[in-house]
Amino acid sequence: MAAEPPGTQMNNNGKNIIERAGGTRPRRLLLCLDGVPYEVLKNAKGRGMFDIFGEPSRLLSPFPTMTNVALSRMLGATAPLGYESLYFDKCAQELRGGVRKYIGWRTPDKTPSSYMDELDYQEPLPFEFLVYVAPETIWRADMRRFHDRFRRAPQTRDFFAFLKGTDGLMHIRGPKRLTVALNSLDKILKNIHDYCGDETEIVLFSDHGMNLEENRRVNLQTHLRKNGYDVTHNLRGGDRRGVSVPAFGLCSYVALYCVDEEAAAEVADSLVDLEGVDFSIHRDGERAVLVKGRRGAARIHRQGESEGEIAYRYEQITGDPLELAPIINKLREDGLLAQDGYAMDAAWYARTSTHLYPDAVANLFQSLHAPRVGHTADVLVSLKDGYYYGDSLFSRLARLAATHGNAMRASSTAFLMSTHRTLPSFVRADEAQPLLKG
Ligand SMILES: [Zn+2]
Repeated sequence: MAAEPPGTQMNNNGKNIIERAGGTRPRRLLLCLDGVPYEVLKNAKGRGMFDIFGEPSRLLSPFPTMTNVALSRMLGATAPLGYESLYFDKCAQELRGGVRKYIGWRTPDKTPSSYMDELDYQEPLPFEFLVYVAPETIWRADMRRFHDRFRRAPQTRDFFAFLKGTDGLMHIRGPKRLTVALNSLDKILKNIHDYCGDETEIVLFSDHGMNLEENRRVNLQTHLRKNGYDVTHNLRGGDRRGVSVPAFGLCSYVALYCVDEEAAAEVADSLVDLEGVDFSIHRDGERAVLVKGRRGAARIHRQGESEGEIAYRYEQITGDPLELAPIINKLREDGLLAQDGYAMDAAWYARTSTHLYPDAVANLFQSLHAPRVGHTADVLVSLKDGYYYGDSLFSRLARLAATHGNAMRASSTAFLMSTHRTLPSFVRADEAQPLLKG
């Protein structure tokens, strides 16, 4: 017994009940699994895994469905500078960050978002790169280290861990191998549940999902150059044909930066016929976003300021790029669509949370008008499932079995579940904080 690390014994004297928000609740283990889709988790649960947990909620990840964007919203933390470690700085008008910065990102001034400060466990730095070379080995080591660290932690406060290895496993190996890994994690969590008892609530969640098919690269830069654009690292010269397109991880979204709104509209037009592009969006003044794709063009309008007053309108200019026409018809039939075409945010949300593009109107509008990152793109592209954009160096290292980043259902639907609480069936990222930390 003397060799047992502290914090591993059953605790029956109420020491694990902690005070929070004026009340008390059990101590919480908050465990985030990077990139595990709702569907994969739901299937695992259907086969008897994770049976200590209640029903999983669909946790809607904001567009672009990337870790730092998602976790900063879910945890109510500061926005990261860009979508990834390589980003375009709109003040300096140039690309910043990248791999060298990434390797050094854990010094305080380089922390991408304040949620990082709250982590009690995350993988050691070299793992982040090795995971793409030897995903199984890295994942097992990561899991073991987390378990060890958790057992040594004081039982009188919450513990927050982030396991990134699941993301690498999915990208490189795909869902089958991820399920094997989830099986070992399930055993660890059952073990934790056994020795902590009811006094520790385990909350398991993911930051974003993934598509489950093999992916091809889009020839985005070549296409832009063919269309007369100058793909460049900085826009300081004010060149109207200049466009900056950070290329980093191999993901299914693209962020583009232009000299102004008009130039952004033209770039979005030129991307409509590029293979792999589902649609592009760009700002159209302060209260609208334009959506352009092969299926047509539409404008998303927003009105109302405070919660409960916000309404959206989906104006079809040509065709129906987001496939929302059937939803609008139903809203009209049910008397939820005003004369001027607006419907309340809550009505849209209720009708589109499992749509091809979950929560489409609010999610896409907010991706360009809310501060999800410090340097918001001028054009955001959502690629079709099966396509990615990114650094050509990374794409030579590995085949890509799955990826994420776009606004489609597979990438946008993460999960959230608890051993103690029944949670709502759908949770928007912006509404997750009280459920995770409250
Ligand atoms: Zn990823």
